[in-house]
Amino acid sequence: MSESYLPLSPIRSAEILCVGTELLLGDIINTNAAFLSKKLAALGISVYHQTVVGDHPERLKAALEDAYGGRGRPAADLVIMSGGLGPTYDDLTKETVAAFFGRSMTMHEESLTRIKDYFDRTGRVMSPNNAKQAQMPVGATVFPNDYGTAPALAVSDGHRTAILLPGPPGELEPLFCEQVTPYLRRYTEGVLVSRNIHLIGIGESDLENRLKDLMVGAQNPTVAPYCQSGEVRLRVTAKADSVEEATAMCDRMIDTIKATDAAPYIYGIDLSGIQEAVVQHLTAKGQTVGCAESCTGGMIAQMLTDVSGASAVFKGGFVTYTNEMKEKLLGVNPDTIDRYTEVSEPTVKEMAAGARRALGTDFAVATTGYAGPTGGTAENPVGTVYVGIAAKNGSTALRLSYSATKSRDYIRTAAARRALMELLKIIRE
Ligand code: ATP
Repeated sequence: MSESYLPLSPIRSAEILCVGTELLLGDIINTNAAFLSKKLAALGISVYHQTVVGDHPERLKAALEDAYGGRGRPAADLVIMSGGLGPTYDDLTKETVAAFFGRSMTMHEESLTRIKDYFDRTGRVMSPNNAKQAQMPVGATVFPNDYGTAPALAVSDGHRTAILLPGPPGELEPLFCEQVTPYLRRYTEGVLVSRNIHLIGIGESDLENRLKDLMVGAQNPTVAPYCQSGEVRLRVTAKADSVEEATAMCDRMIDTIKATDAAPYIYGIDLSGIQEAVVQHLTAKGQTVGCAESCTGGMIAQMLTDVSGASAVFKGGFVTYTNEMKEKLLGVNPDTIDRYTEVSEPTVKEMAAGARRALGTDFAVATTGYAGPTGGTAENPVGTVYVGIAAKNGSTALRLSYSATKSRDYIRTAAARRALMELLKIIRE
């Protein structure tokens, strides 16, 4: 009987094995593992372990043995690997996997031609080492790489499958989506689709109470709450034979949730962030917004302009870092600052009102605060940020209070997000 080069049984479980000493040293963050975990979950493949090993063939071999059921572990059907496919002497992933599967290496002529073409196209000189990237274990399924030189590959003995991907995320991600996903679909039993319902103004426990029956009873789709920086998300996940079917199941569950008393708190489905919701709501109402930022230094403007189509609703903004500019550009009364200081509710309200007036918008959002690590007063210590929102019927303000031990970046980012959440609440009123 000839040995199998393709999986013979369904792929239900996987281990992610990232190769690279840089990862162990903390020089790079393992974004490939996060990406692969998400994608494998969507394919209905359970990931039970993520492992990182350095560029070291013996340790890599031991990690493979463990993943395929060594040391009492349940065997993964699939080990999906990233890194170590480069042309240099320390790139040993392919050779180690070939030896593990008892396969010799052979030149894959089609890959060699593609690598030569890649060098011609990009006007670079191909070194003899690059030919090594076209060497493949006998029987490998090769996935041509249009984004770099190292092709990806799959090696299988029928029951154990390894997929090897190049390390750079700019290559790994499109290769996985375009070529590895269709390969894996042939061996998986159904797909998972997740959709996110975004809610605002309701706590996680209150939401759980209201949807308890749905959340506990639902098997497929499942409904699970997530809480992040004052925002609550419900993730609806369905498993079915096709993406279309799973999506339709999620949609039906979303309709059911929209018919509960959680409905008033829902502000969007599958959004990339609060800013997308702000732009969507303003666009739907034909309204506009501007901003005046002190401690957030333009972050709110950046978040809004990150959204494609923001030009229809975002007119512009001021970064008024000094009191002089708050007075000159926004018309903040110097007496207000003298009396209450620049980090105060009256000042932030005048900043918002001034921006709204100057920009001629329906709404304006303003921030002023102490992001630290130095500064602050006894009354308003580091971590205090005031958010002001100006609308047709007047201005409102909110005092945020973050721990002074939080970083400057954390305080500024959290305040910018929170300002947009307040704005969204007022737009929705
Ligand atoms: P190349 O063909 O470019 O040499 P390779 O497959 O040999 O790729 P590595 O040399 O291991 O991959 O890594 C190349 C680069 O890819 C790293 O310097 C890093 O920028 C990025 N990279 C590698 N592994 C990861 C990972 N797990 N997460 C994020 N980025 C990674």
